[in-house]
Amino acid sequence: MRQLIAGNWKMNLDTVACRTLAQAVKAMAANSRGELAVFPPSCYLPTVAECLRGSAVSWGAQNVHFEAKGAFTGEISASMLADLTCGYTIVGHSERRQLFGETDDQVNRKALALLAAGIQPIICVGETLQQREAGQTQDIVRSQMTGSLAKFTAEQLSQTVIAYEPVWAIGTGKTATPDQAQAVHADLRKWLEIRYNQTLASTVRILYGGSVKADNANDLLSQPDINGALVGGASLQASAFAAIAEAAKG
Ligand code: PEP
Repeated sequence: MRQLIAGNWKMNLDTVACRTLAQAVKAMAANSRGELAVFPPSCYLPTVAECLRGSAVSWGAQNVHFEAKGAFTGEISASMLADLTCGYTIVGHSERRQLFGETDDQVNRKALALLAAGIQPIICVGETLQQREAGQTQDIVRSQMTGSLAKFTAEQLSQTVIAYEPVWAIGTGKTATPDQAQAVHADLRKWLEIRYNQTLASTVRILYGGSVKADNANDLLSQPDINGALVGGASLQASAFAAIAEAAKG
């Protein structure tokens, strides 16, 4: 399956820097067998969309609210993101879960709102270091999957991307080894197979995220159950993101 390399720009850059980076990513598409997508701060989505429209690169937001409209000061709805022609949107990033108290139930409602608006959610799951050391990785990620994908039909799942992001590897420079990541990805796929079926489970993209860089991208992306990368820090440096994009498999 064609791998997806997604750049989460988080709360960084300004108009000029977003435009420059988006243009650089657009140029990278020619050298990547994978699909590329970028996730700027929401206020810069129109700027990025203007740079990327008509190119092979997709764009999306880092968060969404699950309500359709109304008195929700500071929030952005899925239909607004659809209006900005977002192809994907990240939900349940560990920073949202940890810093803003986002629950699996909220992640589920956000993902369903995105799907209803025709946007593919990228649902993040992952354990903390303490949970990994306590041998709870499988239980934690399976329970996040159960909550975040509640009530998903097979059709909805087919439009969904999963991102396994061990919290201890995000922004820390510590990457899961290819074997550690592959083991969790294989377990997530098994979970999907049990809940749905083998055919569907084999076609759902499961991205790895957590300190993916130019020098570890190829090993991670060569694992059989890793279908792409969600990249934070390295996505802000055009040269590093280009190297990861080049490591993507078709
Ligand atoms: C992320 O924020 O999703 C992420 C994986 O960050 P980093 O690549 O910086 O670890």
